[in-house]
Amino acid sequence: MTTRSVTHLPRDDNTNGWSHILTPRTPKAALQGDQKSDWVVVGAGYAGLAAARRLAENRPDDRVILLDAGEVGENASGRNSGFAIDLPHNVGSSMEELEGSHRFMALARAAIDYHEAQIERYGIDCDWTQPGKYHCAVSEQGVREVLEPFARELDALEEPYTWIEKAELDRRLGTTHFAAGVHTPGCRLMNPAALVRGLADNMPDNVTLYENSPVTAMDLDRGIRLSTPNGQVIAEQMILGVNGFADYFGYFEQRLLPMAANASLSRQLTPAERDALGCEENWGVTPANAFASITMRYTNDHRILIRNNIYHNRKMREPESHRRHIKQVHKRLFDERFPMLPEVDMEYTWTGFLCLAQNGAPGFGKLADNVYTSVCQNAVGVTKGTAGGMLAADMACGIDNELIGYMESLGTPNKLPPRPFLDIGVKARLAWELWKARKEV
Ligand SMILES: Cc1cc2nc3c(=O)[nH]c(=O)nc-3n(C[C@H](O)[C@H](O)[C@H](O)COP(=O)(O)OP(=O)(O)OC[C@H]3O[C@@H](n4cnc5c(N)ncnc54)[C@H](O)[C@@H]3O)c2cc1C
Repeated sequence: MTTRSVTHLPRDDNTNGWSHILTPRTPKAALQGDQKSDWVVVGAGYAGLAAARRLAENRPDDRVILLDAGEVGENASGRNSGFAIDLPHNVGSSMEELEGSHRFMALARAAIDYHEAQIERYGIDCDWTQPGKYHCAVSEQGVREVLEPFARELDALEEPYTWIEKAELDRRLGTTHFAAGVHTPGCRLMNPAALVRGLADNMPDNVTLYENSPVTAMDLDRGIRLSTPNGQVIAEQMILGVNGFADYFGYFEQRLLPMAANASLSRQLTPAERDALGCEENWGVTPANAFASITMRYTNDHRILIRNNIYHNRKMREPESHRRHIKQVHKRLFDERFPMLPEVDMEYTWTGFLCLAQNGAPGFGKLADNVYTSVCQNAVGVTKGTAGGMLAADMACGIDNELIGYMESLGTPNKLPPRPFLDIGVKARLAWELWKARKEV
């Protein structure tokens, strides 16, 4: 019998602003004793939640156990910027790239439809709205090199958009920071922690969720046997939705790039501050360069979100001192954009961990006879993780779904160079991105 220890576990802190602004939630009990099930899903982010629900729907007589190391809504899925993005960030203009974009959009839109069906069915109160999003450039160079090609690619895809000149953008966003923007209508915005809680707390009856139940060991010799601190799951099949932690389970080793990203939510603006800002309600901005520049939102409850900086973080840990520093950086970025709001502090600041592949491919599909997965969502997990989870469940149940082929066509994460070359390479690439986009901050 070969037992593999899972030696590195998630350690989500309680700094996530999105969950702090919600009413407190009591987590589901941790796993105790031995439990048998037909299926076990590990990870209660978008991927694992979608996989568990879809398994339960596909096989209503089967029992599904969903395990998470932490509490629902405190993982990356609950602490992201809350954009359900329906379009690829970089489209590309070759036939092959355009076909890839069509497949990406079909997957993303299937995920959005899925979320909307659950939100409506269970009355999930997560501020889900469809204001679209602004893709903005700060510099004339950014307009030429990113926005204009993006608009041409949207033309080629026959996707609707509005080009917005500076003066109009200033009026809509309440900041003079941007040179121009492209508004696309399909993106949804939400409070991600509220969405994840709503999905987890409204699972079908044949799914049992155990929180605070980290998998510390795995044995695949006779079915699946997963150990947690106070109990075991013995299951026939497994879907892994553990994102950047997959290589600690022995999958995608040396193929995943765990990254950190930081976000802050300001305190709520007062009515006088809202007047001083004087912009549209409820907007979201994605930056021309995702690594170097800043994602922003003006939320329905009148807070401003700032998210900057994606960087390699191998162990998926950040100390408290780092967060204090980030809070100051975000306040400076906020002041540069909104000088009319000098008294507004960043009320919450947090770090979250996501997972990229060098070639942008997802970790999706069949890993062994009775093991399937959806990991490595490449920073668009609200849609891609959800689609990946649903499709991993369909694949595991032998259900014919053309989207499975679309997902597979995105490839698999390619092999990374060994350390220390990897660390040097990633650092150099990010430094290059930052330099290239230095006028976009
Ligand atoms: C600051 C920030 C902003 C972002 N903004 C956006 C955005 O606007 N839109 C977007 O689409 N994406 C965004 N992302 C990325 C997005 O959050 C992720 O792609 C997505 O959450 C990944 O979902 P997932 O289900 O694959 O993984 P996760 O949400 O990371 O879930 C994996 C789960 O596996 C569990 N797990 C791991 N190991 C074990 C173990 N041993 N035992 C049990 N459980 C385990 C973890 O506890 C975790 O709950 C952002 C990310 C960050 C950090």
